[in-house]
Amino acid sequence: MPDAILGRMTRHSRLPRPRRLVAAAIVVPLLFAACGSANPSGAPATSGSPGIGAPPSSAPPAAPSCPPPRGPAADRPWWADRIFYEVFVRSFADSDDDGVGDLRGLIERLDYLNDGDPATDDDLGVTGLWLMPIADAASYHGYDVVDYRTIEPDYGTADDFRELMAQAHERGIAIIVDLVLNHTSRDHPWFQDALTPGSAHDDWYLWEETRPPVAKSDGSRVWHEADGRFYYGYFWEGMPDLDLENPEVTAELDDIGRFWIDEMGVDGFRLDAARHLIEDGDELENTPATLDWLADWRERLKADRPDVLVLGEVYDSSSMTARYVREGSLDLTFEFGLASATITSLNSRDAGSIAAAHREIADAYPPDTVATFLTNHDQNRVAAQLGGDLEAQKLAATLLLSGAGVPFIYYGEEIGMSGRKPDERIRAPMRWDASEPGAGFSVAEPWQPLGDDPPGADVATQDADPDSLLETYRSLVRLRAAHPALLSGAIVPIDASDRHVVAYLRSDGDRAVLVVANLGTEPVTAPKLALESGPLCGAPGVDVLAGPADATAPRVTAEGGFDAYVPIAHLGPREALIVALDGE
Ligand code: CA
Repeated sequence: MPDAILGRMTRHSRLPRPRRLVAAAIVVPLLFAACGSANPSGAPATSGSPGIGAPPSSAPPAAPSCPPPRGPAADRPWWADRIFYEVFVRSFADSDDDGVGDLRGLIERLDYLNDGDPATDDDLGVTGLWLMPIADAASYHGYDVVDYRTIEPDYGTADDFRELMAQAHERGIAIIVDLVLNHTSRDHPWFQDALTPGSAHDDWYLWEETRPPVAKSDGSRVWHEADGRFYYGYFWEGMPDLDLENPEVTAELDDIGRFWIDEMGVDGFRLDAARHLIEDGDELENTPATLDWLADWRERLKADRPDVLVLGEVYDSSSMTARYVREGSLDLTFEFGLASATITSLNSRDAGSIAAAHREIADAYPPDTVATFLTNHDQNRVAAQLGGDLEAQKLAATLLLSGAGVPFIYYGEEIGMSGRKPDERIRAPMRWDASEPGAGFSVAEPWQPLGDDPPGADVATQDADPDSLLETYRSLVRLRAAHPALLSGAIVPIDASDRHVVAYLRSDGDRAVLVVANLGTEPVTAPKLALESGPLCGAPGVDVLAGPADATAPRVTAEGGFDAYVPIAHLGPREALIVALDGE
């Protein structure tokens, strides 16, 4: 149970903790403000040169005083302070030497992900796993299911899965599994039955006697022929869409959800293709019926298990994606816009894209509803998209793991595995060491050749090398876990004077952490930050968590922000400064 494992996550930062610097220079003229006089000194008001007794009316209004700490909110969902890791079981670890990854292999590698011991620092420290589909399926990737209640035989058995759940929970790791509600495999017995008109499952799918004149926006076909009739399959002819407006189908999908919760013990679901569930004529995505169906399904599931996580893939704009959580269709939804903006900004060395995405998510999403990532199993790997630039990859990790939302790391991202489409090549075997041919993934020939990764992109090589990407990820995960504002605080975007610089606050109401990152490949000198209004109060000290040690604190305005604040004299290429502003 997620609630029982929350206590295991506290970690201590492995990043250097420089001596705390308190900005003693900040003296807020509280007394002047309190007396209500524009000229409390009694000196004649002058408009000339300032000197002794210069008019205090020119002093800025006092910063708001800090309220007593409220402490953690009791009603935050369990996933709000998690760090997830996406696993493709087929490519993660092979326990029985057949070249195919399996559940036992994943169990054997759990200590790499989180050994459950807060005293150790040689694990990644993640506290959640998303498993790509593990039900019996026709294709290698698992998104075309043939039996929703049976574990993919290549991966193991139901007992193996229950053992995985137990071992993960033991280590403080929650597990959610991919669930494909939109379509089945063409080979699913339901569809095979449906091929016969008038059969028991005929109306579980969508049939027409003539091909409707509907296509995807790119012109590709969504109605496919079978024995003189036409069935709807959004993605391709091998994956016919279920008719979710048929109450029998809905009842079956309720039962499948309950099966994975009650019989298999999962903590939640990642719903594939969530925006495609119900079509309406030529409207193929985000129909009101889709949002309503999901909201009802989620509600029925929560009647069974109130804290089940329902996460969805809505591959769309932030404003559309946010509708799914605002309208109760999903608990949590992936933010594709921020993911691509992060990579765009790193490649262009211009903060415009990521800063705009931060503003959009700050406005669009209620608290604890957004899942963030760099890339997933459908996209060219981040290392490839960043041209193999190691410093850019480290900064990408910093932006993800100091950013808002519930972060997801795609397996292999933390060691710089590369890979471009076709899909199999972005889902290649995990590189545990530099051995051939299986890289520690398997002693046999792997089901898929290893990726085209640079030398050193493996766990053994990067383990304990303080400059490696893997150690950077481990440090960032620990840093996030040790600071509640970083873990689950809201994001407050900040204006930066330099176009290479992105800046934001993370604030949980009691504490604030400032992040300032130089996306450029040249040093930045004295970047100026402005925040018209914000969550700050009093005269904060600075506690540098990462980056240059000589950071200074802002002078907080009456609106809880700051103006022309220079947090640091110098920020190196691709360097980030992370400071706690509460002096904790
Ligand atoms: Ca195997």
